[in-house]
Formats: sequence, C-alpha cells, structure tokens
Amino acid sequence: MRACFFSAAAGLGAVLVSGSACAQDYPAANKTITFVLPYAAGGPTDKAARDLAQSMSKALGGHSIVIDNAAGASGSIGTNKVAKAPADGYTLLFTHIAQATLVSFFRQLPYNVEKDFEYLGLVSENPMNLIGRPNLPANNMAELIAWAQNNKGKINISNAGPGSASHLCGMLFQSTLKVDMTSVPYKGTAPAMTDLIGGQVDLMCDQTTTTIPQIEGKKVKSFAVTTATRLSSPVLKDMPTMQEAGLKDFTVTIWQGLYAPKGTPAPVLKKLNDALKVAVKDPEFIRKQDAGGASVIHDPRNDPAGHKAFVLSEMAKWAPIIKAAGVYAD
Ligand code: ASP
Repeated sequence: MRACFFSAAAGLGAVLVSGSACAQDYPAANKTITFVLPYAAGGPTDKAARDLAQSMSKALGGHSIVIDNAAGASGSIGTNKVAKAPADGYTLLFTHIAQATLVSFFRQLPYNVEKDFEYLGLVSENPMNLIGRPNLPANNMAELIAWAQNNKGKINISNAGPGSASHLCGMLFQSTLKVDMTSVPYKGTAPAMTDLIGGQVDLMCDQTTTTIPQIEGKKVKSFAVTTATRLSSPVLKDMPTMQEAGLKDFTVTIWQGLYAPKGTPAPVLKKLNDALKVAVKDPEFIRKQDAGGASVIHDPRNDPAGHKAFVLSEMAKWAPIIKAAGVYAD
C-alpha cells in the first residue's frame, strides 16, 4: 500500500493515511464520487445536480460521479448524511436554498450548517413558477386570486417539505394573499408534480427547470413567475411576475451549490473547486440551465468564502420571514 501525508485541519500535525485517502492522488481511479442529493429523482435539484455532475466529471478527466437521492424530511436526511460522511472528497452534498432555510423551520437539526460543511461553491440560480392542476377553474393570476379568496380552507398546495424552495414560495404566496392553504409535503417536487398533473392537489411553486416541460406539454397551468422582471424563456416570456400580478415584494430566487464534509483535506477541496469552476464555464452546462430558465453563477460565490458568506446572509434574510410565518417542523 502506498502511504502519504497531509496536514490535519484540526492542527494535530502530519497524519499518516492510507493510499486511498491521499489528497494528491484524488480522485482515485477506483473510487466514484457521489453527489448526495436530498430530494427525489426527476425534480429540479436532481436535474441541476446531474448537469453539474456531467460537467465536473469532464473537468476531472472523465472521473465517474454518481447521484444518491437521499430524500426526506425536507432535505435534512441527505444533508445530515453528508455532514456525517467520511471527509475524503468522495461524498459531497448538492443542495439548494434549504441549506439556509431549514435551520429556521426545524426546532432541531441533526447538523450545523455553519460548522459541519466545507463550502465548495454555488453554481446556479433558478426562478420559481406558480403552477396549478390542469383542470383548475382559473386561467390567469386575477382569476386565481379570486378563486383562492372564494375557496378559503379548501385549497391544497404541494411542496418538498417545510423549508424547501417550493414551500418557501407557497408560504409567501399564502401570506401575501392572506389565504391559508393545506400544505401537502412530498419527498421532492417530482412526485408532487405527478399528483398535480393528476389533479390530486391544486397548486405548487416549482423551479422553472421542471415546470417548463410540463407547461409546454399542457399538463399543468402556469400563473406567474417569481422574478422581479419577466423571463426570456420562450415558454414563460408572457408569464407575469408575482409583482405585476399585484403581489407586492414577492420575489424568490433559488440557488444551488456543492458542499463537502468538514475536515476534507485542503488539496481535495481545491481540486473540487477547480473542477466546479471549469464546469460553470462549460457551454453545455450553461446551455442546459438556460433552457430551463436558470442562470449559471459566475461571481465570487463560485469560491468557498463567497459561497459561505452568501449562505450565512441568506440564513439571516430568511430567519425573520420564516419566524413571522410561525411554521415549524419537528
Ligand atoms: N423543487 C424542490 C423544492 O421545492 C426540491 C426538488 O425536488 O428538487 O425544494
């Protein structure tokens, strides 16, 4: 067995480790990298993770990256799985805004967002889109608002659990409208979409990357987007923004990024961050995000310090909004 040394992050000095964990050999030819993704397969986070995995794999010389959909409990199960995983660069977390919002919804999380992760960089931002079942009586935002006000107590709205992107967007929609709806949580918005298409639930907010194909296929009705200005996507360009529809200050943007367990050796983190920065410039990655109405991030948030500072600022931004809504998960 080949042995190598690296400096322990905890300041314990040089540590002898086995060849498979050598930072300079990373990634080892016989070990796959896993992106743990805390939502169901087929949803927008899954799509973004798979797109990134393809581009990062190219950047790492074709090294294989697989996806592990560890869904449940609003994304906290998969996130905790990575917090507790070996810090060797082979188990990474791909998640979205929930990294900053779950902490305000859960009375107790089994991990610490600030202390249990290495931040590898943010990759993309995504608008949300309010959609409804195909047989919903309303056809535009004005009709939807009137229908919601006339059907108080009867409407349900699906999401990926408290603190998920779909939940935040739906929560803002209800509080802005002052209409309470029954929240129907799923392990991700892919299974929620199936039930929306089938008419089992009334409404959902989801990232545009997965709403666009369903709108194009006339499987769901689209009502509004959550950006400050209209989107350029050919499918959504005529969709009003929430603000145009009269819902003041209603903007939501979802961001996605990559994390490693705390204590991952610095040379491994550097290789991963370098690969991430190559991936966000990959025309194929950019094209796929663009087609879904998302935009690729090219700013200091592609780096660990900028990524972490942004997540902490998002935690501070959302905490009072979530606390004011008085919604908690156990
Ligand atoms: N779109 C989901 C959310 O609402 C998660 C997913 O299934 O990707 O957070």
